[in-house]
Amino acid sequence: MNYPLYLDYNATTPCDQDVVDSMLPYFTVDFGNASSEHHPYGWVAKEAIEDATLHISSLLKIDEKEIIYTSGSTESINAVLKGVYRKLKHKGNQILTVKTEHKATLDVCEYLQEEGADVTYLDVDGNGLIDLNALALAISDNTLIVSVMYANNETGVIQPLEAIAKICKQKNTLLFSDATQALGKIPLNNFFSWVDFACFSAHKIYGPKGIGFTFAKLESQASLQSFIQGGGQQRKLRGGTYNTPAIVGMAKAINLGIYNLEAERDRLSNLRNQLEKGLSLIEEATINGKKSDRLCNTLNISFEYVDGQQLLAALSRNIAVSNGSACNSAAINPSHVLTAMGIGRNLALSTLRISLGKYTTEEDIQQAILIITKEVAKQRASNLLWDRR
Ligand code: PLP
Repeated sequence: MNYPLYLDYNATTPCDQDVVDSMLPYFTVDFGNASSEHHPYGWVAKEAIEDATLHISSLLKIDEKEIIYTSGSTESINAVLKGVYRKLKHKGNQILTVKTEHKATLDVCEYLQEEGADVTYLDVDGNGLIDLNALALAISDNTLIVSVMYANNETGVIQPLEAIAKICKQKNTLLFSDATQALGKIPLNNFFSWVDFACFSAHKIYGPKGIGFTFAKLESQASLQSFIQGGGQQRKLRGGTYNTPAIVGMAKAINLGIYNLEAERDRLSNLRNQLEKGLSLIEEATINGKKSDRLCNTLNISFEYVDGQQLLAALSRNIAVSNGSACNSAAINPSHVLTAMGIGRNLALSTLRISLGKYTTEEDIQQAILIITKEVAKQRASNLLWDRR
């Protein structure tokens, strides 16, 4: 198969070869179960997990006991929001979140509403940012937890998490942040002092799929329930056999991500800016979230008078990008992130999310500009409204 140019790194990333190499022994020679205490196979696996945990904790400057391995961010979001709600519901029932969160958060909130949670969905402005005063006003004695993602997966917009954390601390409310897209793209120097809980996923940072971790601050762990019962692993917080190769691979991926962060950030923002400049030359193109602090690798751009589905279908032969809209069998829905930002249905539907990564080159960017410009013009040529505008 002739693969198109990959520009969808926010969806997932290829595993780095060094990550794969670090994992390989744990599939074959060192295949033991880390919970087998009575022979060297188990000891070797246990040591590998301990080394990986120590490595991750020192890279992120957190305590080893603040790491709970999960299958990825969706599981972590479920575990934190359901865990806190069910553990603390005698104290209140409000969960505060934002309309532009990832569906994993929104769907868990909707699920918890059926269990009696009162969920407040904060608005964002046209730049994708929440209003800090509205947040402060919305927190009440009834609020159990505030859940705000750090960086948006569709627009790349970065929420002012330090200020959000300050408000939560003043109001004595727990703060959870989905930082899936932030790891490896934004320095997380002070992040862990701001939040009580956070989630991460290895496949967004050139690690394997099906592994991630929940950060749970030591002093906030009493507000959590056990994620999965059985086997007693991870201090009974999340039972089940440790996925040794995946944990080792994730540690390697985090190491590479953090080690290369500054240089990659400069390189990617330069490429993203070139792409943005090139595509902005297309008439009636709008960059979404442009005025906000954004992830260095993400461009979200809408084209008037273009059918987004047709555009994506036509592009798919040459470039792999996404639009963030959710399709179900009956209807195509515009992205909830863009509609929350006040972007109309039609324009939201004719939007591309282009996300760059470590294998993206300047040549790829020039090629992407040419292909997209040509395809948008082609779509418009067959749209009567374009001529009549
Ligand atoms: N949150 C954000 C911001 C994401 O981008 C993703 C991935 O799509 C998720 C959560 C879900 O992560 P996972 O694939 O690890 O379940």
